[in-house]
Amino acid sequence: MKYDPSKTKTLTRSYEQQVIRLFNSFKKKVYPRILALYRMNKPKMNDKHTLDGRVKIQHNAISDITNIIDNYSYQEINSHLKPIVNKYVRQAYDRGGKKAESYIVKDNIEFKYFFTPRDLQAVSVLAQNNFRLISATTELMKKDMLTVITQGMLEGQSIHKMAKALNGKINKSKYNCRRIARTEVLRSYNQAHINQYKKVGIKRWEWITAWDDRTCDMCMGNDGRVFKIGDPQPPLHPNCRCSVKPVVESK
Ligand SMILES: [Zn+2]
Repeated sequence: MKYDPSKTKTLTRSYEQQVIRLFNSFKKKVYPRILALYRMNKPKMNDKHTLDGRVKIQHNAISDITNIIDNYSYQEINSHLKPIVNKYVRQAYDRGGKKAESYIVKDNIEFKYFFTPRDLQAVSVLAQNNFRLISATTELMKKDMLTVITQGMLEGQSIHKMAKALNGKINKSKYNCRRIARTEVLRSYNQAHINQYKKVGIKRWEWITAWDDRTCDMCMGNDGRVFKIGDPQPPLHPNCRCSVKPVVESK
């Protein structure tokens, strides 16, 4: 049984692709430059340098490589990230708002979703949070790459091995960013719901679990349960795909 209550899959996929494209272009720029420096400076069998000389050469190479990674991660990833994050957080929020409207209207309450200053503020907070998460992942990737390079230089690892290790670090970061994109789209979508419920004085909401073979026990247990506005809403965990719907009190 497969069920995706938020129906944000296409939006999420397009967001993931945009972020991945940034990582790929970072890799394309940074790889040849790092590997060339690494090739030039890694210890060789017939090394004629003194120990001090060798340490100095490696130190300089690592500091050059650090600059390259810093520059390109800014140029290729971070400097492009904000408009992308803003776009998808806003789109997810709008979808949530419109879906909330359709639920509310179905319950015979008059309501039209439009973007108020309060919604704008929510989107801005959500986008900032999302941006911070992806930036932190990029920072971690930079540190991981440098650790790999430093170790490779100390051990005189082959270019092939080095390239493979760096690839692993970049892929790990890409994977994490995709997960962040998925989770944050859902967060924005669900937050839009809750904010619309508040506008019409709806005080309670129901948890709708997304069903597939990866649904966790906690989310399964929450399906159909009723919560108050202010209770933690999904996503409950990274990759959670659960959503919410309003509970209208009968008079
Ligand atoms: Zn869930």
